[in-house]
Amino acid sequence: MKKMYDDLKEKVAVVTGGSKGIGSAIAKRFGQEKMKVVINYNSDQAGAQKAADEVIEAGGNAIIVQADVATEQGVQELLTAAINNYGDLDVWVNNAGLEIKSPTHELSLEDWNKVIAVDQTGVFLGSKTALAYFKKQQKKGNIINLSSVHERIPWPTFASYAAAKGGVKLFTQTIAMEYAKDGIRVNAIGPGAINTPINAEKFADKAQYDQTVNMVPMDRIGDPEEVAAGAAWLASNESSYVTGITLFIDGGMTLYPAFKDGQG
Ligand code: NAD
Repeated sequence: MKKMYDDLKEKVAVVTGGSKGIGSAIAKRFGQEKMKVVINYNSDQAGAQKAADEVIEAGGNAIIVQADVATEQGVQELLTAAINNYGDLDVWVNNAGLEIKSPTHELSLEDWNKVIAVDQTGVFLGSKTALAYFKKQQKKGNIINLSSVHERIPWPTFASYAAAKGGVKLFTQTIAMEYAKDGIRVNAIGPGAINTPINAEKFADKAQYDQTVNMVPMDRIGDPEEVAAGAAWLASNESSYVTGITLFIDGGMTLYPAFKDGQG
């Protein structure tokens, strides 16, 4: 069982969208580090409970809390749950996200708003809530935002997602700078193609799966645990001089893979 960072022991984390995929892998990894985790879910209570069971099995502590991260009330409830159950907050992970595919000239305002509400506004609301608590408590807290390789790589037919993630990048950098003097660190993680439910339909289709693998210099899809390892490092004091970065965990996808065989 993985465990690396002694300073994480007993620390309290909120992980949004923790019922599946990368969020539940981060929660589980935090459990292995013996942390106390508030696992947020939107609708999949069973998935969140499974993640909580895994955290507890790994030696950590966990509770599950239903909340919509696109609302102020939702994120406030997550902070309240951390304080009421564990007495504190040390790490806030804005992981919840969704994507909607559509040619941009056909993308409805409703769908645009749905993606921006969670992927961008949700990151703002979660960060604001954590920052306000850290400031009040004079706490050197830690915020981790799940961005994407698409904060850098344009993604036709996913304009709302790319716009949101591009926004998350500069939002992360801005608040990292704004609160650096308080000892609060804010970083992003930019996953590439990771094997999670968000990609299930795409990866079930062999042609699309092969096409995706072909865009990865390391020639494989990543596992959620490989993203969670980055979250543990960013949450820990081992990254004590790191703020405002996006840690790409992408098998090299951001390295212009079309050039991988030396052509061009
Ligand atoms: P996923 O679909 O498996 O999980 C996303 C989670 O977010 C789900 O549990 C979902 O219920 C939750 N969520 C959605 N809307 C919510 C809301 N309003 N309130 C609370 N929770 C909500 O996706 P994943 O692959 O695990 O992605 C996690 C994060 O990583 C996302 O921000 C995603 O954009 C990012 N990411 C994923 C990949 C990948 O290849 N899987 C690549 C780049 C970035």
